[in-house]
Amino acid sequence: MKALVALVGRPNVGKSTLFNRLTRSRDALVADQPGVTRDRQYGLAYCGEQSFFVVDTGGIMEQESEIGSLMRGQAQLAIEEADVIFFLVDAREGLSSLDEEIAEWLRCTEKPLKLVINKAEGRDEDLVASEFYCLGLGEPAIISARQGQGVEVLLQALLTLL
Ligand code: GDP
Ligand code: MG
Repeated sequence: MKALVALVGRPNVGKSTLFNRLTRSRDALVADQPGVTRDRQYGLAYCGEQSFFVVDTGGIMEQESEIGSLMRGQAQLAIEEADVIFFLVDAREGLSSLDEEIAEWLRCTEKPLKLVINKAEGRDEDLVASEFYCLGLGEPAIISARQGQGVEVLLQALLTLL
């Protein structure tokens, strides 16, 4: 069985952009899998010789709203079936209270987790990292899903988590 990596985080942090970048090349298939709800999108990604599945989720919102609970449910399902979790945050927006809440929520899972700071192109890496340090999630990957910086390093880090 190939490993499955779940992309989670609040809306608009760049989960789908990273998903598209990871699954873009070769026979990348972004297909509905039988028995799987359409609200989670699956694709095949490559890291050198190795391939793995990625699942994109709608994003985790405040729980109060109905849509917020639904999206949280989707993320929960993705987390349950995943082998590794990428928790995305946004370097431009900085740390938000929702990020803190999600981090708290993710602490309950025992799965390997990588903090991924996205939209970091043109930013000072140490400064960006220091802003999210208080989440207590270890060494972050600092990337630009849109431009591609840091994605190779993230994939190398993934190999150590599988
Ligand atoms: P999602 O809601 O987490 O799936 O986020 P999307 O992938 O839909 O991206 C939300 C917005 O952020 C879009 O306008 C993207 O173009 C933008 N975005 C995604 N990745 C990056 C990045 O690395 N840098 C910048 N500057 N913008 C990005
Ligand atoms: Mg999305």
